[in-house]
Amino acid sequence: MDEIKYHPLINDGSSPDMVPMFFTTNESAVSTKLYLTEFVSHYYRFCSKDAVSNETAAEYQIHCPYCGKVMKAISSSADTHKHSLYTCCDCGGKTHLQEEI
Ligand SMILES: [Zn+2]
Repeated sequence: MDEIKYHPLINDGSSPDMVPMFFTTNESAVSTKLYLTEFVSHYYRFCSKDAVSNETAAEYQIHCPYCGKVMKAISSSADTHKHSLYTCCDCGGKTHLQEEI
C-alpha cells in the first residue's frame, strides 16, 4: 500500500488560490492550517486543522500539486475539518490511462 502524502497549502491572503508547495508523508510535519491528504494517487481530500464552514471551503481554488491547474471538487464536504475530495482532470486522467496499459 502506498504511503499517504500530505500537501500543505499556502495562500497569499488576498486571493482564493491555494497552492501546494511540497509534500510530506509525516502528518505532524504539516505546519499550515490547510492541506491536502493524498490517500489514493491523484485524489486529494482538502483538510483544515481549524473548523472551516463548507461554504468557505468551497470558495477556495485548489491547485494541482503536479501541474498547478485548478482542480475540481468531486464530492461534498464530510465535516468542517474534512472537506471536498479533489482531483485534477489532466494528471488524474493520464495516470489512470497509463496504469491500465
Ligand atoms: Zn494536474
